[in-house]
Amino acid sequence: MAILRFAPSPTGRIHIGNARTAILNWLMAQKTGGQFILRYDDTDVARSKTEHAEAIAADLDWLGIKPARVEYQSKRFDKYHAAAEKLRASGHLYACYESADELDRRRKRQLARHQPPIYDRAALRLTAGDRAMLEAEGRKPHWRFKLDHATVEWTDLIRGSQHIDTATLSDPVLIREDGSYLYTLPSVVDDIEFGITHVIRGEDHVVNAAVQIEITRALGGTIPAYAHHSLLIGSDGAGLSKRLGSLSIGAMRENGLEAMAVVSIAALLGTSDSIHPCADYTELVEGFDLAKLSRAPARFDEAELNHLNAKLLHMLPWNAVRNRLGYGREAFWLAVRGNLEKLSDARAWHEIITGKITPVIAAEDRSFVSDAATSLPAEPWDSTTWKTWTDAVKLASGRKGKQLFMPLRLALTGLDHGPELAALLPLIGRQKAMDRLA
Ligand code: GLU
Repeated sequence: MAILRFAPSPTGRIHIGNARTAILNWLMAQKTGGQFILRYDDTDVARSKTEHAEAIAADLDWLGIKPARVEYQSKRFDKYHAAAEKLRASGHLYACYESADELDRRRKRQLARHQPPIYDRAALRLTAGDRAMLEAEGRKPHWRFKLDHATVEWTDLIRGSQHIDTATLSDPVLIREDGSYLYTLPSVVDDIEFGITHVIRGEDHVVNAAVQIEITRALGGTIPAYAHHSLLIGSDGAGLSKRLGSLSIGAMRENGLEAMAVVSIAALLGTSDSIHPCADYTELVEGFDLAKLSRAPARFDEAELNHLNAKLLHMLPWNAVRNRLGYGREAFWLAVRGNLEKLSDARAWHEIITGKITPVIAAEDRSFVSDAATSLPAEPWDSTTWKTWTDAVKLASGRKGKQLFMPLRLALTGLDHGPELAALLPLIGRQKAMDRLA
C-alpha cells in the first residue's frame, strides 16, 4: 500500500506536465490500494493564492483524481520550526550572514578561477562573538543545511541507480533571512510525517533528492522510494514549464476536451505502451508500472491530444455522455459520435436532425430530389429504410453512386458530409424529410 503525494505550489494553474505527475501518483495509489495526498506547497505566502489552490483542486477533480487527504504547508509552520530546531541542535543547520551581493561576488571570483561556484562555508568559521557582532549590525541570519559531503546513493524507480556526491553542491539554504522556509525542508518534514512511501515527481528534482535524503537521515526519518520521471517537451522541442495557455488543464476543460483523453495521453506518454484512448481508469491502473516509463523526454503534441479526444468520443457509449449532453437519445448518439471531435459538436447534428435547416438543392437536381420524395417509404422507419428508399430511387432515376446519394444528403442535411444517412434518416423522420426534399 503506497502512500503518495502530489505537491503543487498554488502560484498558478497546473498544466499537462503537472497533471502527468499527479496522474502517475494517482495510478500508483490506485494500483496498490494506497493513498493519494494533495499537499499544497504554499510556504511562499506572498505568491500562493487560495484561488489557485481551488483551481488546482477543481482541475484534479475533473481529471478524476480524488485525494484521500489535503494538506497545506502554510498551516504546518510549527512542525518546520521544530525540525529546524532539531537540525540546529545536531549541528546540521548553521547561520549565515552573507548578503546576496556578497555571495554573488564570491561566485564570480570562483568562476574566474575556474572553481565550481559552491558556497565556501565561511559562516561555519564564525565564532559566537562574530555572530553577535553581525547581529548587532542589524544582520539577520539565513540558515544552511550542512551536507555530509559523501555520495548519496539510491535506486530510482525510473532512472535506476543514482549517485550524487554532495561535496559538489552548495549547502542548501533552508530558511531565508526573513524566517520563511524554502520548499526543501517542509517537504522532507511532511514526507516523513505523512509516511510517504513513494515520491513520484519530475526529474528537475533529482539533485533535491540527494539533499532531501541527507535531511531525512538527519531528522531520523525513513527514506521513501524515489521515482523521477522525465519532463514533457512541446512539439517544438521546448520545455512546457514556462508556458501555459492551451496547455493548462483549465483551458483543456474549457475547450471541451474529454478528461479521459487528457488522462490517457498524460498516463501513456513516454511509456512503452501505445497511446490510445481509455474511457476510464481501469485499464490504466491495471497496466501501470513505473518500469514502463522512459528516461527520455516525452513529446506532448496538442494535435495528438485532439485526435485522441475524437477517438475516445467515437467509442463512448450513450451512458457515458447522456448526463453531460442533456439532450438526444441513444440512437442519436450512436449515429453522430463517429463524426465528433469534441462532445459539443454533437449539438450541431442535433439541430440538423430536429431543427430547421436550409436544404441545398442544385438546379439540375431539383426534379430528381422532388421525385425521390414521392417514393419515401411509409413509417415506421428503421436503419433499413435508407436502403429500401435509395434502391427504389436508383431504379426510378437510373442514377447511382455519388450522383444518387449526394443530392439527397445535401437536401436532407444541408451539408455534403456527416454521419451515415441510414442512421440519420429515421431520426429526421418522414415529415421533416418530406419537407426538406420538397
Ligand atoms: N512543490 C514542488 C514542485 O511543484 C514539489 C516537488 C516534490 O514533489 O517534491 O516542484
